[in-house]
Amino acid sequence: MKFLVTNDDGIDASGIKYLVDSLQDYGEVCVVAPSQERSGTGHAITTHQPLRLTKVERFPGVESYMVDGTPTDCVKMALQALGYQPDLVVSGINLGANLGTDVLYSGTVAAAIEGVICGFPAMAVSLCGEASFLPTATEYLQRIIFEVRLPMPRDGLLNINVPAIPLNEIRGVQATRLGVRVYNNTFEKRFDPRGLPYYWMGGSPANLHGQEGVDHFAVENGYVSVTPIHFDLTNYGLLNELQTYLDD
Ligand code: MN
Repeated sequence: MKFLVTNDDGIDASGIKYLVDSLQDYGEVCVVAPSQERSGTGHAITTHQPLRLTKVERFPGVESYMVDGTPTDCVKMALQALGYQPDLVVSGINLGANLGTDVLYSGTVAAAIEGVICGFPAMAVSLCGEASFLPTATEYLQRIIFEVRLPMPRDGLLNINVPAIPLNEIRGVQATRLGVRVYNNTFEKRFDPRGLPYYWMGGSPANLHGQEGVDHFAVENGYVSVTPIHFDLTNYGLLNELQTYLDD
C-alpha cells in the first residue's frame, strides 16, 4: 500500500512521527506536511503567495517534504504537483480532539477532506489529550487499517478520535455521528510594548451533555470514535420546505 501522510501540527510534531512509524512496515510512505504548526486553519488554501516545497530528511527511509502553506496546500501539492498516487491519505496524529464542530476548524480534518476531493480515500486521526498516549492511537490505527480493514468511503472520509488513556483501558471502537462541541472562548486583552491593545483567544469546550452515538460521548466512555463524514453541507431537511415556500 502507498500512504500519503500529512498533518496540521507541522512536520516536527510528535504525532506525525508516530504515524509514519506505524505505517512504514505496511508499505510505502510519502510525507508532505506544513513547515510549521497550522492548527485551526480549516480548509484554507494559499493563492496570493508562492509555495515552497522543500525536501527534508526527517524520517529515515521515507520521502518527505515540507510546505510553507496550509494542510490543504500540502495535500494538493502532493497529489497534483508531485503526482503522488496513494492508496490512502492519512492526516494526523493530531494532538487534541477533533470532535463535533471541531471538524469545521480543523486543518487535520481539512487535509483528509482534500484527499477525498482529489479522489483518494482518506482518514483523519486525532488523540484527545496528551502525547504520552500516542502509542494507544497508533495501535488502534493499525488495527482499523490492517486488521479490521474498515471500508473506506469514496464520497467522504473517516474521522477517528482516540481517547488519551492506556491501551488496555480502551473499551472498543464505535461508529459515531458528529456531535456539537461549543467552546467558552475567552479573549484576554493585553498591551504590546507600544501600548497598543491586542487580544489572545483562549477557552475550553463547554460542558457537554453527550448522547449515545455521538463522537464525544464515545471518547468520554473509553471508545475509539470513527465518524464517516462527507462534505455535502446541504440541509436536506429544509430543501423541500424551501421549494414549497418558493412555489407558494
Ligand atoms: Mn493540530
